[in-house]
Amino acid sequence: MIDLHTHTLLSDGVLVPSELCTRAIASGYKVIGITDHVDESNIEHVVQSILKFTASFESDALKVIPGVEITHVFPKRIGRVTEMARELGIKLVVCHGETIVEPVEKGTNTAAIEAGVDILAHPGLLSKADSMEAHKKGVFMEVTARNGHSLTNGHVVKMAKEYDLKMVLNTDAHAPNDLVSTEFMNMVAYGASLTDSDIDKISNDTVELISGLYV
Ligand SMILES: [Zn+2]
Ligand SMILES: [Zn+2]
Repeated sequence: MIDLHTHTLLSDGVLVPSELCTRAIASGYKVIGITDHVDESNIEHVVQSILKFTASFESDALKVIPGVEITHVFPKRIGRVTEMARELGIKLVVCHGETIVEPVEKGTNTAAIEAGVDILAHPGLLSKADSMEAHKKGVFMEVTARNGHSLTNGHVVKMAKEYDLKMVLNTDAHAPNDLVSTEFMNMVAYGASLTDSDIDKISNDTVELISGLYV
């Protein structure tokens, strides 16, 4: 199992990275991205801490990818913050998209896609224009197991199929119980109308995304 969207107490998760990883291994995960929330106030120290952890983490059971989730940054600053994350050594850039359960600034999805983030998390009511641009840029759309954000999974899948967008299945884990089983993640996917062959394609695309992050 792969999960490219998780949080630790470096932002609003409840576990230190070490415990998150130990629990991910126990739950059968093979790859996780640690993607704590950042804006311009904390990006330097969060990235420094994540990189310190990933450099020290040695395990044959789990590969850990250093990431960030750019969160509630004004759209006009998202491009700059994406560059900052990459300059600081981050491999996986996720942007906190326009979920319908938070007052995310309108234009965030557009700015994140233009910036070429790797994954647009919980994109909410993703528009046609943003879908077309995401297709061109190869930005992955997230289907999420997280309560609330998951309300628009059905719409995200519909747009992804219509505009040939790549998808990822993520937990957006903040606490131990959020590291769901493969069976549960599959139920979330079925609930958003994905089929077994869609899930296979998503897994293959996700593996390809990960291999690209290390180039
Ligand atoms: Zn988020
Ligand atoms: Zn998140």
